[in-house]
Amino acid sequence: MTTYDAVVVGARVAGASTAMLLARAGAKVLLLERSPYGSDTLSTHGLMRAGVLQLSRWGLLDQVAAAGTPPVTRTLFHYPGSSPVRISIRASQGVPALYAPRRKVLDRILVDAAVDAGVEVRHGVSVTDLLTDVGGRVTGVRGVDAANRTFTAYARTTIGADGIRSTVASAVHAPVERTSAAGGAVLYGYFEGFPTEGYEWAYGSATAAGLIPTNDGQTCVFVGTTPERLRLARRAGAGTGHATRVDTGTGTGTGTGTGTGTDAAFAELFGLAAPRLRHRLESATRVGGLRGWSGQRGHIRRSHGAGWALVGDAGYFRDPITTHGMTDALRDAELLADALLAAWAGQRPEAIALAAYQAKRDALSSQLFEVSDRIAAYEWEATEIHQLLREVSSAMSDEVSLLQTLPPRPLRPVATVMDGLVSADMPSAGR
Ligand SMILES: Cc1cc2nc3c(=O)[nH]c(=O)nc-3n(C[C@H](O)[C@H](O)[C@H](O)COP(=O)(O)OP(=O)(O)OC[C@H]3O[C@@H](n4cnc5c(N)ncnc54)[C@H](O)[C@@H]3O)c2cc1C
Repeated sequence: MTTYDAVVVGARVAGASTAMLLARAGAKVLLLERSPYGSDTLSTHGLMRAGVLQLSRWGLLDQVAAAGTPPVTRTLFHYPGSSPVRISIRASQGVPALYAPRRKVLDRILVDAAVDAGVEVRHGVSVTDLLTDVGGRVTGVRGVDAANRTFTAYARTTIGADGIRSTVASAVHAPVERTSAAGGAVLYGYFEGFPTEGYEWAYGSATAAGLIPTNDGQTCVFVGTTPERLRLARRAGAGTGHATRVDTGTGTGTGTGTGTGTDAAFAELFGLAAPRLRHRLESATRVGGLRGWSGQRGHIRRSHGAGWALVGDAGYFRDPITTHGMTDALRDAELLADALLAAWAGQRPEAIALAAYQAKRDALSSQLFEVSDRIAAYEWEATEIHQLLREVSSAMSDEVSLLQTLPPRPLRPVATVMDGLVSADMPSAGR
């Protein structure tokens, strides 16, 4: 039986990054993921500057670009009744441009980097429960593999990077410290022949839309509104004879399910949010089905306890309308990895190191959490959305400033300094 320094549940932006950073520092890490290697998930994928900065600092940005992810050098804001506002993305400190890699591209790059760092990765396995010692400290996980065989794995720290409906958070009864009031709905799809100048965000009457240039020459196009408004639009569209299957993705999200009227609702909402871009939508060709998110309130959970920690959406989820969840996850992966490494090296008691991780995460997140909630309520007027977006921008600047103060990361695994203990009775499974 092997004991790992960390067992990480969930191998996407939060989990694969945390596992990679720990392993690069010499830790023995097991990374467990239910879905197949290289699979997609329910998410658009615009990265903000802090997320791109992380990929650059970790030596992975070249791979993102090499995968054919187009550089984004400009953001356009479309407001009702005024000309678009163009903001150039200036190249600075390892961030030549922004990028929006498809999740099947980015998550795979992160998992491969984790493997290169020495992480043991298993896809197709589900963690079902946590192991605890007599004092109640979490000591590892219990789960099942694709062949329905059970396994256990032991670790100093069990990390829940398992998304919104985190099994780890439920098992430890992680208290929810804040919830948001609103949870917006999203429909999105991929289009060919939809040129963009960069990221383009549009705001209309209780609606928003976005254009995100991505891999394979495609543009991810989304619309956002309230769940109620989306339901009404789909119901109205159902009478028009349009019908489409809504792909709810393979992730942990709340899909809107199969339904009629979705094409018509998408076109209507896009037209409301971005009337000046409608002609571009009409002359583009959609590739595949629309994907839907029916909305969920944000949460900030307590993110640590004896033998466990949470990272990414498992610990902190805010409305996707500000396209920032992946960037948060990449940021918090490093904050958590540093806290654990300090604790394991005896530099700080575990509880203090992890409390500092949460405090830093919360300080960086609270402004974005609040402003995302206000945007997701779709109760703003055109004049107010400017101000809300300025607040988003200010919160993002604080985040970049913090990341720029972090020490450089080793780009390769360093000589092992951690003591792994036991070996898990894991079934073998390829990634
Ligand atoms: C509609 C929508 C659009 C979005 N658009 C953007 C955007 O443009 N930009 C942006 O930055 N963010 C966006 N987000 C947010 C972003 O998707 C999330 O913040 C991000 O995926 C969080 O990453 P994560 O690694 O924490 O969790 P996830 O990506 O949810 O990964 C968790 C993983 O854990 C695995 N897992 C769960 N339970 C178990 C278990 N018991 N055992 C084993 N494995 C398990 C799951 O299979 C999953 O792969 C969007 C979200 C939505 C819903």
